[in-house]
Amino acid sequence: MGRLRVKRIGVMGGTFDPIHYGHLVTAEEARQQFALDLVIFMPSGHPPHKEDRGNLDPESRYLMTVIATASNPSFQVSRMEINRPGPSYTIDTVRELHGIYGKNTAIFFITGADAVLEILTWKEPENVLSECTLIAATRPGYNLSRLEELLPEVGKEERGDVPKVLVMEIPALAISSTDIRRRVSEGRPIRYLVPEGVREFIEKNGFYR
Ligand code: NAP
Repeated sequence: MGRLRVKRIGVMGGTFDPIHYGHLVTAEEARQQFALDLVIFMPSGHPPHKEDRGNLDPESRYLMTVIATASNPSFQVSRMEINRPGPSYTIDTVRELHGIYGKNTAIFFITGADAVLEILTWKEPENVLSECTLIAATRPGYNLSRLEELLPEVGKEERGDVPKVLVMEIPALAISSTDIRRRVSEGRPIRYLVPEGVREFIEKNGFYR
């Protein structure tokens, strides 16, 4: 699809350490619910709050994301945050994407609700909220009250006026990267939690042991 014809893009922001079926279901659901022309997976290069958490290197996280999304024609993976030196700030990414696709292209930045809860600590949070719509993905039963207290304009997509933060409940988000890493380190199976190619890539490279 030519860039000028892209009017609504989803950006899946995350560490993807590793990517799993919860992320893929989230992206596909957002694509359908918000009539997105495409969803760009954006593995963070240097997550701002995670300098000491020992994430897998950006290149390996990027490669797993490519493997996981390869068969979906509406999914792309970007190296934008991986290639940008310094911490991966969402506002820089949103601005760079507006530079590529034009100011009139609506950007829906999709990430986990726990990450959205931290938005006041992000770089230029008010500009993030004015330059894109945030989609906070949660598993059903997640307590939204903290999000609603923090950001009065949180809403479900059915509301007429478009809130700054939309919430999407995804049952598959019971899967988590933390649990997958723990399973690998304990020698437990991760088959059916991640795409087969990702599972094989993790095994071949000995990640998370
Ligand atoms: P995180 O703390 O690793 O994740 C928080 C929670 O959200 C985890 O439960 C995580 O589950 C889930 N999650 C993360 N990405 C998701 C996605 N795309 N879809 C569904 N669930 C998701 O958060 P993070 O990955 O470091 O950061 C999330 C995004 O926010 C990134 O794009 C990051 O660049 C951005 N961010 C920006 C700033 C800033 O601009 N200053 C600061 C912080 C974060 P899993 O572990 O299973 O993925």
